[in-house]
Amino acid sequence: MDSAETYKQKREQLVKYLEAGGFIRSKEIAEAFRSVPRHMFVLEEYLDMAYDDIAIPTINKSTISQPSTVATMLELLHPMKGNKILEIGTGSGFQSCLLSKIVGDNGRIVTIEIDPVVDKFAVDNIRAQRSNNIRALVGDGSIGFIDEAPYDGIIYTAAAPEVPKQMLVQLKTNGRIVAPVGTQVTQTLKVIEKTSETRSREKDFGIFAFVPLRGQLGF
Ligand code: SAH
Repeated sequence: MDSAETYKQKREQLVKYLEAGGFIRSKEIAEAFRSVPRHMFVLEEYLDMAYDDIAIPTINKSTISQPSTVATMLELLHPMKGNKILEIGTGSGFQSCLLSKIVGDNGRIVTIEIDPVVDKFAVDNIRAQRSNNIRALVGDGSIGFIDEAPYDGIIYTAAAPEVPKQMLVQLKTNGRIVAPVGTQVTQTLKVIEKTSETRSREKDFGIFAFVPLRGQLGF
């Protein structure tokens, strides 16, 4: 069996595992995990672990998040075809590519990475997938990215001390922010829904450990 077929089988196993564990609930998210080859987002020495449910170090202290965590966050974000999503912390570009599949050709992913070396790694990975609806840029995502606002959803892939009010300004009404909020050691995964121009509702979804958000409104 060639390696492409082996990786495809491993992806299918990972999807089954994530579905059985209740991490993946929707067919759109299952389909995205089936089609984005996670092994193309890890360094060569970690190829064997590419489809294990673990976070894997990449470069400059960045990581590719654990698949079950990515699935949980995507289900909570609930992205839909045609949506415009802001991702804070591009990392390997893996989650950006999943989002790209989910929102489709009429959607758009804006992803921002503070570390230029990590951004270069991600941009190469994203290019290899030919995802044309992703704009990856270098910058401080702790203040969002006003130029392309408003977004249907905002997802933090780094731990934030808080989600500042100005982020809600960059969100459409009925849009959602998914973010791990807490200390640099542990965080609560929060979903903040903008229910009207002036109101929002917040819910908590378990304890996680992400790399800390840096920048102006980070740690
Ligand atoms: N979603 C990624 C994982 C990202 S890890 C994946 O699927 O691979 C978190 C990333 O957030 C790190 O690469 C880190 O450099 C970046 N980061 C930290 N603070 C940031 C900030 N203020 N703005 C943008 N990116 C930031």
